[in-house]
Amino acid sequence: MYLKGKTALVTGSTSGIGLGIAERLAASGADVLLNGFGEVEAALAAVAKHGGKVGHHPADMASPEQIGEMLAYAQREFGGVDILVNNAGIQHVAPVEEFPLERWDAIIAINLSSVFHTTRLALPGMRRRGWGRIVNIASVHGLAASAQKAAYVAAKHGVVGLTKVVALETAQSAITCNAICPGWVLTPLVQQQIDSRAEAAGSVEQARHDLLAEKQPSREFVTPEQLGELVLFLCSEASSQVRGAAWNVDGGWLAQ
Ligand code: NAD
Repeated sequence: MYLKGKTALVTGSTSGIGLGIAERLAASGADVLLNGFGEVEAALAAVAKHGGKVGHHPADMASPEQIGEMLAYAQREFGGVDILVNNAGIQHVAPVEEFPLERWDAIIAINLSSVFHTTRLALPGMRRRGWGRIVNIASVHGLAASAQKAAYVAAKHGVVGLTKVVALETAQSAITCNAICPGWVLTPLVQQQIDSRAEAAGSVEQARHDLLAEKQPSREFVTPEQLGELVLFLCSEASSQVRGAAWNVDGGWLAQ
């Protein structure tokens, strides 16, 4: 329970990786502010069962104004944010010449600019309290590209760069900023990509097999629970000199 007394804000935590991370943080004693759309009640119940205070704020991470309202809510209701996990993200797959402008703007806003906004708003409180952890859920696509993912790859490379800047600006404090770069994790975001490949592959099972075989040498998905454990490590004192890292958890994807 070494996170007792700390508050974590996990963006995009009503599903998938964010929910897995939120549960791990709550299980280690943190109070947790969830964010995201969809199955809010189920996510609140999943995190509440670990004890501690749990809340939800519905800010759209594409909106700087709503992000500001969420951070103000965190200050009012939780006394501030000690652990910021920037996880909200969306995907769109299309060749660059056909990439819809609206999807480009949405992906840059949600996957990249939101990280800038939450960070700039959470940092002053962390500095005042003399401790903080910022963990950005980037992707292997923050370190390498895949075709048809122009906006996502650009945004995630941006997140890795922003992580390094914030790590430098906080280097002489007890605030650290790092990125985690997962390979394939079987969440709704990836299931959509599997489903859209299913017809060409012949079945959903074949599409899932092909997706892993193409990029991820272990041929096994990374799990949200495994990513949650890494977030816990990055919140521990043992990690206090891990700064500006982009830590891949990818079944060997980037070793190729
Ligand atoms: P997911 O679709 O399961 O969850 C996304 C979460 O973000 C949900 O809670 C959703 O409500 C929320 N969200 C979406 N748009 C939002 C918005 N505008 N405002 C607020 N919340 C919003 O996806 P996931 O796979 O769990 O992805 C989480 C993060 O991990 C993303 O940043 C994604 O890029 C990254 N990632 C995923 C994988 C993977 O294989 N699944 C791999 C590498 C990185």
